[in-house]
Amino acid sequence: MTEGRGALEFVVLGSGTFTPGRPPEGPGRGGVRNPAGYALRCQDEILLFDLGFGNFRQMVRAGLDPDRVSSVFLSHRHPDHTGDLAALLFYYRYDGKPQGKRLRVCGPRGTAGFVERLFRAHHPWLRPRGFDLKLETLEEGSVVRGSGWRVLCREVPHTTESLAYRFEAKEGSLCYTGDTSWDPGLARFAAGADLLVSECALADGERGEGHLRVSEALELGRLSGARQVLLTHLSPASERGLAAALRGKRRFRRAEDLMRIRVSRY
Ligand SMILES: [Zn+2]
Ligand SMILES: [Zn+2]
Repeated sequence: MTEGRGALEFVVLGSGTFTPGRPPEGPGRGGVRNPAGYALRCQDEILLFDLGFGNFRQMVRAGLDPDRVSSVFLSHRHPDHTGDLAALLFYYRYDGKPQGKRLRVCGPRGTAGFVERLFRAHHPWLRPRGFDLKLETLEEGSVVRGSGWRVLCREVPHTTESLAYRFEAKEGSLCYTGDTSWDPGLARFAAGADLLVSECALADGERGEGHLRVSEALELGRLSGARQVLLTHLSPASERGLAAALRGKRRFRRAEDLMRIRVSRY
């Protein structure tokens, strides 16, 4: 499915966490999910929000051309969100090139050092060749501007450096929570978005911190007033019972790998 020119298209590369899930025939539910990664097609370019293990190939499976990628926004450095950055940089050194032969990699404090350490660990195979790489450190209130779009940043409680992103263009708006605990201000940051992509890695009643539980993700969606809410970063525990929790809630959907969503103001 390809949307017409001018539309924003959001593609789920991975709807899971670091846990791969269970084989479909196994005792668990839901099968295998790739870890966190999302692509947003905007006019001729592709923006990536996180790029966990396997997501580079997921992008190609989705029919997205890696040579259209202009920017990568990392929410934080956990491997389930960054595992395929090396795969992308390796590909750009020896085969394709990013859009306009420029790649912007943005993320919270520590991102530049992380990429530099990746370069050293794989030296020299990830060093950019034939394109420019720009590393941008973002924080609360940062604004990244592109061609016809901007991305706003909000610090969220997960690791000490974690960001949520809000993408805005005349065609539509999107908010991605990254990984986060409950954060009362996040609903304001996501207010009125055409699509809210909310993590939902914990089941209600499950022990653990640093993530949203199902009921919290639903509450975030409700408070934000977002037109569509996609629940993602699903673990085997959080997706159990999710279908029942979503019954009758028309604005809410459960993410699946390679799902595509048109993002528009109307
Ligand atoms: Zn994380
Ligand atoms: Zn995560």
